[in-house]
Amino acid sequence: MIVVMKAGSTDLDIENVRKRIEGHGLQVHLSQGAERTVIGVVGHIHSGLQPEMELMPGVAEVVRISKPFKLATREFKVGETIVELDGVTIGGEDPVMIAGPCAVETEEQVMATAEVVKAQGAKILRGGAFKPRTSPYSFRGLGVQGLKILAAAGQEYDMPVVTEVVTPEDVGMVASYADMLQIGTRNAQNFNLLDAVGKVDKPVLLKRGFSSSYEEWLLAAEYVLSGGNSQVILCERGIRTFEPYTRFTVDLAAVPVIKKLSHLPIIVDPSHSTGSWDLVTPISLAAIAAGAHGIIVDVHPDPATAKCDGAQALSFENFCTLSTQMRAVAEAISRATAATS
Ligand code: PEP
Ligand code: MN
Repeated sequence: MIVVMKAGSTDLDIENVRKRIEGHGLQVHLSQGAERTVIGVVGHIHSGLQPEMELMPGVAEVVRISKPFKLATREFKVGETIVELDGVTIGGEDPVMIAGPCAVETEEQVMATAEVVKAQGAKILRGGAFKPRTSPYSFRGLGVQGLKILAAAGQEYDMPVVTEVVTPEDVGMVASYADMLQIGTRNAQNFNLLDAVGKVDKPVLLKRGFSSSYEEWLLAAEYVLSGGNSQVILCERGIRTFEPYTRFTVDLAAVPVIKKLSHLPIIVDPSHSTGSWDLVTPISLAAIAAGAHGIIVDVHPDPATAKCDGAQALSFENFCTLSTQMRAVAEAISRATAATS
């Protein structure tokens, strides 16, 4: 349920509404826009609450939210969520490039990649240190050593860094090195992990589960939001279908549909979805044209020797081509572009 306050309502009116709701044992989430304040109410709402709230001073209207994802739905919030990390914003007009190796392997590999992607306009550096792998015999990441290398590269090239966290126990530790926490597709419904990242003061990049519907994905986001963390970015990374020619099937319709349903930013991962480097540029361009707030792309100095997902990694040269073409597409559809630094 949302309580929409009148344009002229006072701070005291808002405070009184908040107290009344909390008195019923319900959660309050405030959303303040330039023109109106919306008070989101979450919990088991009894039928008498709506008429009770309608009578309170300063209340314009009370509306029931039919969607199960109460905090993630557009109805709940005034305007868009813009996530900010170290001066980089995601969710506005300007599409953001997040780039870097799938896995942190060596300091040289990450530093070299950071230098190139930064020069080409990427704003955020990616790199996995804890890798959830389908096979236990695959490279599973450098762990804490990987986090240190990634953080050092972020410092050196003045880029915020994003990396995956795979267990609730590690959330605080990973958050001490990373500017944004990634929840991978395999953990998209690990509810204890979602609860844990809901309690930290760092943005969360939430991949879509490869068999999650939009509703399940937004409900995963709801775990993080209801935990108190409002900085969630959704990432379409492909779903499993009957088609074997790509690693997963990229669902680009997710971009406009999620934008219609939710105020949260949405980006696309063309690397993990397609699994092939030569498909990364076309899908990135399509994602931006479809309205995505950004892309997250695997880049490696020497994809042939990558310890993880080399087939989908862009070489430096191919990343340069992508960034040039991405700027052209963004300009063609009148979206501002990240300037090359
Ligand atoms: C990744 O981005 O490193 C990754 C493992 O992605 P996903 O969870 O989408 O497979
Ligand atoms: Mn990968």
